[in-house]
This record gives sequence, structure tokens and C-alpha cells, in this order.
Amino acid sequence: MKYYSTNKKAPLATLQEAVVKGLAGDRGLYMPQEIKPLPKEFFDNIENMSFHEIAYTVAEAFFGEDLPADDLKKIVCDTLAFDCPVVHVNDNIYSLELYHGPTLAFKDVGARFMARLLQYFIRRESNERVNVLVATSGDTGSAVANGFLGVDGIHVYVLYPKGKVSKIQECQFTTLGKNITAIEVDGVFDDCQALVKSAFMDDELNRHMKLTSANSINLARFLPQSFYYFNAYAQMKKLGKADNMVVCVPSGNFGNICAALFGHAMGLPIKRFIAANNANDIFYNYLQTGKYEPQPSKQTIANAMDVGDPSNFARIYDLYNGDHAKIAALISGATYSNEQIAQTMKACYDKTGYILDPHGACGYRALAEQLADNEAGVFCETAHHAKFKDTVEPIIGAEVETPTRLAEFMKGEKQSVAMTKDFDAFKAFLMKE
Ligand SMILES: *Cc1c(COP(=O)(O)O)cnc(C)c1O
Repeated sequence: MKYYSTNKKAPLATLQEAVVKGLAGDRGLYMPQEIKPLPKEFFDNIENMSFHEIAYTVAEAFFGEDLPADDLKKIVCDTLAFDCPVVHVNDNIYSLELYHGPTLAFKDVGARFMARLLQYFIRRESNERVNVLVATSGDTGSAVANGFLGVDGIHVYVLYPKGKVSKIQECQFTTLGKNITAIEVDGVFDDCQALVKSAFMDDELNRHMKLTSANSINLARFLPQSFYYFNAYAQMKKLGKADNMVVCVPSGNFGNICAALFGHAMGLPIKRFIAANNANDIFYNYLQTGKYEPQPSKQTIANAMDVGDPSNFARIYDLYNGDHAKIAALISGATYSNEQIAQTMKACYDKTGYILDPHGACGYRALAEQLADNEAGVFCETAHHAKFKDTVEPIIGAEVETPTRLAEFMKGEKQSVAMTKDFDAFKAFLMKE
């Protein structure tokens, strides 16, 4: 399979080129040249298949030409070493819990898949170590670090702004050791990002070591997220609820919903989609007006969705050839203030006992408001509520339990390298690695 750029000015790329580069040369996002529909028999029988079987069938359609079946199977099964269950919450509303992975958020799926795919390419080619540089304001760093943890041949450098990530987040990438180095930068997130960008542009450094990025626009991170939508459909079918199924995705950079839309393009029988936003309402406004107008991001309590110019909009736009009417017919929007998010968390907890995190709360509310009587809705619970304990507890008025997995991170010893925002010092450090 070849991959083209959404800007249509870069040459076609192989899977390996697209994954190693991340962004195309013309700064567009890579798209597969072909989206293969899956056969009717697959959907007829899907409720009798395991999550691994379902995911492999989907993966095969995209990556089957580029990887031998056994290797791809192993990558899929290693990636999905945890379940993504569908849980009933209220009325016809179900939660697709995507937080049962190592860092308790859905980004684990994409990060783990990308790590294993990259490892496959390294093994096939040279044995040269590949170095992943990632700047983080919190969650991406933990998903990437844990996704790549212990993967031979790859070393990860996570750059994060000192004092600007939560304690839990910091523990999730500074206590790992092994092939993960945390770099604590005396600056803000933008300084971390600038150091990473400068490193990619520095010829001497690139001759010294093989560098790659793992940011969320990488196709190996976003595409595998389609797996769990097929599995959610299978679970809803078992419950007899799949006929008019609506999928609602709390969205920031729109990678997750984009993966769901790829599933739809492969024939997954989802009736319609809802993109639930916090106060960052760029996509919501696009649906109403047909105009895409990026804005500076606004800080909210659902902070992983604080995005003012969602990267994957380019992929969605391309998928439907820029046809606004088509996009607006398939996807509806929702946008919620902090007060509405908090009120939703409280009301849902009081009524059902289910604890929503602030991101999932946007998804739940959009379904509660927009679902028709003959429809059943599944929203993504994108992170475990305990990751946002300080926000969640005062809102619901109850203590939340910290899962053992999360508590384990807190016990580890912090190891990090202190760095200023000066590129020369960062480069000198990497030149010695
Ligand atoms: C990243 C993230 C989102 C947003 O997902 P996108 O793919 O960027 O739209 C939502 N919730 C949580 C908890 C996240 O970490």
C-alpha cells in the first residue's frame, strides 16, 4: 500500500517511509491510497470473533501487503494486551472504556502499535538504534514512553516542561528507566517542542544518530484506533443493540474519530457519528457554517481536548473530498463549557454511579442530548477518571479509588535529565548518547 499526502504535493510514500517520517514533506498528513471494504460475512459473523481476530482482519486490510501475516498478527496481539469493553451506563447509552491499557488512556493503543511496527522495520533493515524524540505537555509522553518501553532497538527521549505536568503524568514517564530517558526542560511546552524541531533539522546530529518522531499525526498511531470501533460494534451486536448504532467521540486533535470514520468507510455499520468538544469549538463551527477557522486553544477541565487547530481535520476533509454536506450529514457536533462538563459528571454519578472523566463526560452528554428513541449510543471513555482525580473528586463529591496500575507509577523513583531550553546544550547531550 502506498500513502499520499493530504496536501498532494509530496511523492507517494511506502508504509515504512510514512511511519518514519510522520509528516509528509509538504507538511500534509499521510493517507492510505486505498480503503478496502470488508466483506459482508465479516460483519455477519463479527460477534463470534475475538478482539484479536477482529483487529487482525482490519489491520490486514491496511498493512497486509507490507507485512507477513505472522508478524502483523504478533504486532496486533502485543498491542492489544488489554480489553476495551463496552459497559452500559444509562438508558441506551454505553461507554466504550478505552482506559484499560498501561497509562489508562486510549492513546496506549496507537503508541503500542507504532512502537512494534517501527521495531519490525528496524529488525528487517539495519540494526541501527532508532531514537524517538517526543515533546509532551503530559499525556502523549506517557503513552509513547509506555508504548515503546522495553522495545529493543528503540530509545525514547521524552521532553517535558518542568513543573507544568501533573504528578501522575510525570511519574508515568520519569520512573520507567530502561530505554526511556525523561528530559526535564526549564521552560514551557513550546520550548520542548522547539528543541525537538531543531534536533530534526540539525544535520550533524542526524548523521550521528537516527531520529524519528512519534507524534499523534503519525498514521501508525491513529489508524490502529479503528480496531476498537469494530470490536465495540461486535459487543453491541451481542447485546442486540447494533441496528441504529451511534458513535460519539470526545475529540481534540480528531485522530480518534478519524479512525472511527475509516472504519465506517470499510463498511462498519455505524449509523452516524458525534464529535463532542469542550469549549474549543472549531469543528463544531465548521459543521454549522462550512468554514474552518482555527483559534488559539482555550484551557478547559478536559485538557487533552484543548486544541484550537485539530491536525486530523485535514484527513477528515480529504476522506470526504472536502464535501461539507457529506461530512455534516454523517457527523454532528457538540460543544460544552466547563460548567456543563462538571454538571454532567455530577448528574451521571448521582443517577447511575458511573464515574465519567471530564473528556468522557462530553461524549456522554452529547448522546444524552442527541440520541433518538430508536438509536443506541456508544461514547468513548478516553481516560480513567482517576487520572483527573483532583478535578473529579470535588465535582462528584466522592473519593475516587486509584487503580493499582496508576499507583505503581507513583511508587517508582523519578529519573530525569535537567536541561535548559538552549539547543546547543541539548545537542551536546545527544551527541554523547
Ligand atoms: C488525546 C485525548 C483526547 C482527544 O483525542 P483526539 O484523537 O486528539 O481527538 C480525548 N481524551 C483524552 C483523555 C485524550 O488523551
